[in-house]
Amino acid sequence: MHRTLPTAHPDLAAAVVACRDLVKRFGTVLAVDHADLEVRAGELLALLGPSGCGKTTTLRLIAGFERPDAGRIVLAGSEVAGAGTFVPPERRAIGVVFQDYALFPHLTVAENVGYGVRDRQRRARRVAEMLDLVGLSPLAARHPHELSGGQQQRVAIARALAPEPAILLLDEPFSNLDAALRVQMRAEVRAILRAAGATAVFVTHDQEEALSLADRVAVMHAGRILQVDEPGRLYAEPADRFVATFVGDADLLRGRSDGREVVTPVGTLSLGEGAPAGEVEVVLRPERVRLRLDGSGHAFVRDLTYFGHDQLVEVVLDGGQVLRSRMGPSRSFEPGDQVSVVVTGPVLAYPADEAR
Ligand code: ATP
Repeated sequence: MHRTLPTAHPDLAAAVVACRDLVKRFGTVLAVDHADLEVRAGELLALLGPSGCGKTTTLRLIAGFERPDAGRIVLAGSEVAGAGTFVPPERRAIGVVFQDYALFPHLTVAENVGYGVRDRQRRARRVAEMLDLVGLSPLAARHPHELSGGQQQRVAIARALAPEPAILLLDEPFSNLDAALRVQMRAEVRAILRAAGATAVFVTHDQEEALSLADRVAVMHAGRILQVDEPGRLYAEPADRFVATFVGDADLLRGRSDGREVVTPVGTLSLGEGAPAGEVEVVLRPERVRLRLDGSGHAFVRDLTYFGHDQLVEVVLDGGQVLRSRMGPSRSFEPGDQVSVVVTGPVLAYPADEAR
């Protein structure tokens, strides 16, 4: 299925943040290349992409830590960056959670959380509310070095939310945590942001993190925002070949398409609506690839990785092409088994000349 890219929302004021045609260069590097992005009230949006694609720069442009070379940013209905306009970070209604949390080491948890609340009358109440929200009331008098990584992260979020920003910006918020804690904190952070009714943008290069945490995901590549969509749609209807292969596991197979069916080395497969005709690359998700023991099959099993809940089986086709099949744990294949490959359901295809 080949879709056109999502078009920008016409009403800048309807979004908490709206970026229009943003450009940021560092010397000859085009870090952000004409990016359009809206963040809706109450949503958690992930900026996802490989290292160096411009995610952090986009976040820093929204925060005001960088000035765009072109384009504009509207935050909570006011232009904060544009031709002749630049509002510095401290005057933008933003809260920032840095990768290393950047807590003040000499201040207690409560003092950290209250730091940005200017109104002294409100401060104590707001600190109590925020500590309650993140479940750290009993630790109010501790210092950051007396906290675990997960607790430090919750303090950083409470501190950023305390002044009631229009939007919370989080830069790789889980990268400082070990793998097990990362998964636990994802759910906790999501629950905290939901309970606070916060609008938030977070940067990640981890597709699982983006898909499991965000309401919508913006996929970036080489400075461009390629697609902004809900996780399920991103996975099922990727806008281009890059998104198809970056989000979720996929193997690519060359084929010849008439727009409805595609002839490939694993047979003739049906295509989704709007598929291109001609030479194409077919995207095969491992969970859609089935194997059958078959003495006259055109593939053999090369490797198996067992995960307990499922397993991944690697097969090599006659032509040398490698495909992966994800299947339940009870099926048993052995390396060297001769198999035939069956692909279930319609597949995605992209023009072969889109390859980069
Ligand atoms: P990562 O996941 O590795 O942090 P990223 O997607 O956040 O990557 P950015 O940090 O936004 O990427 O960088 C985008 C591009 O701009 C990269 O090529 C990077 O080297 C370059 N860049 C970023 N900041 C600067 C800077 N201050 N000076 C020069 N080049 C920069």
